[in-house]
Amino acid sequence: MPKQPTTVSSGEFARPRKSLGQNFLQDPNIIRKIADSLVITPADTVLEIGPGRGALTEQLLARCTDLHVVEFDRELIAYWQRRAEQLDNLTVHGADILKFDLSPLLSGSNQPLKVIGNLPYNISSPVLFHLLPFADQIHSQIVMLQKEVVDRMVAGPGNKQYGRLSVMLQQRYRIERLFDVPPGAFFPPPKVDSAIVQLTPLVPQPFPVQDHAVFEAVVKQAFSQRRKTLRNTLKGTLSAAQIEACGIDPAVRAETLSVEDFTRLAEAVTKAAG
Ligand code: SAM
Repeated sequence: MPKQPTTVSSGEFARPRKSLGQNFLQDPNIIRKIADSLVITPADTVLEIGPGRGALTEQLLARCTDLHVVEFDRELIAYWQRRAEQLDNLTVHGADILKFDLSPLLSGSNQPLKVIGNLPYNISSPVLFHLLPFADQIHSQIVMLQKEVVDRMVAGPGNKQYGRLSVMLQQRYRIERLFDVPPGAFFPPPKVDSAIVQLTPLVPQPFPVQDHAVFEAVVKQAFSQRRKTLRNTLKGTLSAAQIEACGIDPAVRAETLSVEDFTRLAEAVTKAAG
């Protein structure tokens, strides 16, 4: 019989901290819809990033056998540590998610890892980059971000929003935009709209790369000056002739290249170095 989620009263806590991106979900229908988006089996380990006052956490505790939460706010860490003393399915990590090492959650047990989080908006892209090296081992990620960031994640070549984030994520994941969440669903309401996305690792990867660090460096360099041509942005890394040998015109800008094009450029850099 699943446990019923308990409700956390806001009177128990200090005021939300803007510096930690604290916009707490308060709409019960949306909270349930987000929790329902993550398919959880008893075999899964689930990691929640930023449990806050527990809007999603309480739903997850009722559904998970092994829930880990990573929280940075000292008061909230203390709150969750007290809760964990009474629960056998909750492990609390008081840490900055950007410095949190996921490896122990991935090794040592054969349980699939799933990630969920209403991400602090000030660090949402860095969090996605932090999880990227573990992409293949995380079975599913359900994250809430600013709508504008989601637009960048799903944008394709030629789109104004298409950039480093789009290419880096699309090389590793299938990205599905699930639904939008209006500011009124939060306390305090953020100034922007939000959206929920699901990231699922691409297995096998359609455009694999030998060296992810090289791929990341090439993509970053190519987009470093959006208005310049590849011949200029990749100067010192690949010559115009080497770019052409990848079947790519050195006179085009990064924003016109597909994910596959970027993997070919990265492979050329790896080959030239080796
Ligand atoms: N999950 C809760 C909800 O939906 O109501 C809270 C979401 S709130 C947008 C973001 C949460 O992430 C807050 O609890 C905040 O304290 C926490 N947080 C902020 N920066 C963090 C960091 N670097 N590492 C871990 N947690 C962080």
